[in-house]
Amino acid sequence: MMGDDKGTAIEHAEQQWSRVRTRLQSEYGDATFNSWLKPLRVVEQKDNAVVLSVPTRFMRDWVKSHYVDRIRDLWSREVPGLQGVELTIPTTKKASTSPNTSEGPVKASARSAATARRPAPSRQSAVASGNHRDGSEEIGAPLDGRYTFDNFVVGNSNELAHAAARRVAESTSVQFNPLFLYGGVGLGKTHLMHAIAWHIREQHPGRSVVYLSAEKFMYQFVRALRYKDTMSFKQQFRSVDVLMIDDVQFISGKESTQEEFFHTFNALVDFNRQVVISADRSPSDLEGIEERIRSRLGWGMVADLQPTDYELRLGILQSKCEILERTSVPERVLEFLAHRITSNVRELEGGLNRVVAYSTLVGRPVTLEMAQDVLQDLLRANDRRVTIEDIQRRVADYFNLRLSDMLAKRRAQSVVRPRQVAMYLAKQLTSRSLPEIGRKFGGRDHTTVMHAVRRIEELRQTDSNIADDVDLLKRMLEG
Ligand code: ADP
Ligand code: MG
Repeated sequence: MMGDDKGTAIEHAEQQWSRVRTRLQSEYGDATFNSWLKPLRVVEQKDNAVVLSVPTRFMRDWVKSHYVDRIRDLWSREVPGLQGVELTIPTTKKASTSPNTSEGPVKASARSAATARRPAPSRQSAVASGNHRDGSEEIGAPLDGRYTFDNFVVGNSNELAHAAARRVAESTSVQFNPLFLYGGVGLGKTHLMHAIAWHIREQHPGRSVVYLSAEKFMYQFVRALRYKDTMSFKQQFRSVDVLMIDDVQFISGKESTQEEFFHTFNALVDFNRQVVISADRSPSDLEGIEERIRSRLGWGMVADLQPTDYELRLGILQSKCEILERTSVPERVLEFLAHRITSNVRELEGGLNRVVAYSTLVGRPVTLEMAQDVLQDLLRANDRRVTIEDIQRRVADYFNLRLSDMLAKRRAQSVVRPRQVAMYLAKQLTSRSLPEIGRKFGGRDHTTVMHAVRRIEELRQTDSNIADDVDLLKRMLEG
């Protein structure tokens, strides 16, 4: 057969498929269609059979047992005498099952039993279900195949968030609405949300799950406004079973988006659909978001992801090594990284990846010296970071108090002043917000922190003892 003929045959088949698809969509409905049928692609037209590709084995088995007969029936109206519809899984490029977006050589060859078992993160299957009116635009964002529950390491700091996420993923009825996950950057919020989506898609492919960033939500809303298409915008979002919006702090100050978000949110909650939200801070700390929205966001389950402790960091590194099949990284090096890269999990992972990539590149085994050398900048940046706990400990020590005095309600002057100094230093030396600082000091209000900061600023001008204390402490903490 000539190349051109072959091309034309495929084109014909594709046109047939697009008609068949339309019928399937109206027969099975959007949710099923989007989960199972939409990802199918025509790859070959044989004499009396067509071959469709399916992103994963799991999907293939499901489509085969549930839909393939109907596909064949519909297709034989297009091509009388059509004998069969075959399903294949793309076999090429096995090695790139994990989408190696950021970490280059290390992840490119990474494959593990765990990755192999779940729906492969191929683009088609990875795109959230729910499609735009013309069928070309997806409302959700793609999911990262690595972000599953299997790959999430649980420790004290993320236990509640993990349990709540699992609960949402495993139940078909709404347990609490919304689930609000919050915490600093790189601590696993996005990972947990994707994990929920993967789990539901595997267990209940009929449920429609949409994950997207607040930014994308806003983008689509603004677009809908521009094209006077807000009706279908509303409909799309309001027809999902589980809606997850990541990083809602992004809509702070964006009034009309907030308004729309709030309506969508209320509509879903009213219809008993699950909503999952994430932000970099708690609902009550979301400055620039209307009070009624903030308070509504806090009605369900609010779970925070706290900074990691050493054990969790080590656990994460060990698990990453397993996933990457890198047993060659000595335990000592992992311990070193867990000790020194304390900022967040993203940097921790990045550090490990860099060391492994370097060792592969130069063809030498990973050593402690190598890690120190390759990660100089990262280690230095982590050393410079001072935590509120460090400050409290230092200040308590300096003024001969107990650490608990920093958090307690006691108002004795001997305790109040040092506590104010510590709050002041926390504001100066960390990037924490006033409410966050207040919380770390025994759940105090942000106005108390603000007052402390002002008070110490004044005293530094007028009282040289205080000025000396503050400078000394600052130098010790930064040194
Ligand atoms: P966030 O959305 O909170 O900024 P991410 O979910 O993007 O953070 O996490 C950053 C990186 O750290 C991701 O690669 C994620 O897989 C990883 N990560 C975070 N927490 C964990 C954990 N507990 N176990 C395994 N990997 C984690
Ligand atoms: Mg995130």
